[in-house]
Amino acid sequence: LVSLRDVHLAFGQTEVLKGIDVEVKQGQAVSIIGPSGSGKSTILRCITGLLRPQRGTIEVSGVQVDGLKTEADFIALRKRVGFVFQQYNLFPHLSVLENLVISPVKVGGQPRAKAEARARELLAKVRMEHKEGAYPGELSGGQQQRVAIARALAMQPELILFDEVTSALDPEMVGEVLTVIRDLVQDGLTCMLVTHEMRFAEEVSDTVYFTEAGHIVESGPPARIFGSPDSERTRAFLQRSS
Ligand code: ATP
Ligand code: MG
Repeated sequence: LVSLRDVHLAFGQTEVLKGIDVEVKQGQAVSIIGPSGSGKSTILRCITGLLRPQRGTIEVSGVQVDGLKTEADFIALRKRVGFVFQQYNLFPHLSVLENLVISPVKVGGQPRAKAEARARELLAKVRMEHKEGAYPGELSGGQQQRVAIARALAMQPELILFDEVTSALDPEMVGEVLTVIRDLVQDGLTCMLVTHEMRFAEEVSDTVYFTEAGHIVESGPPARIFGSPDSERTRAFLQRSS
């Protein structure tokens, strides 16, 4: 579903991605782990089309993301790829329900009644149906992230990118958000996760990529990456992170 080949990206003189290859198949959960500044968020932003690599190719379900030109192309991509990040995912001036309804109606052209019915189903899925009338500022961080995940799902994306969705949360709220993601992965959601929650990455991922300084140092099934990594660098990182 997603394929990055030899992706290079620099901000000015600073090379941030130095030849990245990543594959995500339909129904898979793929994690990217690695030190701060290694390029994890940059990889995800390339997949959303927000950043354009200088070299290499990026495909999302057969469409070349780095070749998109028109505004309509980008809107089409945005419908297919959901993105949830650390904070500030929700529109603060809209109720929880309205946050989920607005894009399907305005961008997706869905009838309002249908979008609302679907929004309620999704809120139930993330256990937030009791808060549909609340505003984001009235919710805890964990509740906001659960709504943000439902909001991403409302566009029925083929893929969701999660960028450290729990790292701004108080520890007691991390579990409730991870539970929601775990359920979605079990239901077959295709996703890419950038996370510092190593146990969670080990548990839910089909494949784990370890990045350092703009390179993929190694990748493979979680049992191998966490149990017996090939690279000394991966080993050292995992020791520091546990
Ligand atoms: P973290 O774990 O801290 O989120 P990361 O692995 O997600 O780190 P990135 O955000 O992808 O790292 O950043 C990779 C490198 O690119 C960093 O050195 C960062 O300073 C640099 N960088 C990111 N965005 C920009 C930008 N817009 N302009 C210049 N440099 C940038
Ligand atoms: Mg990041």
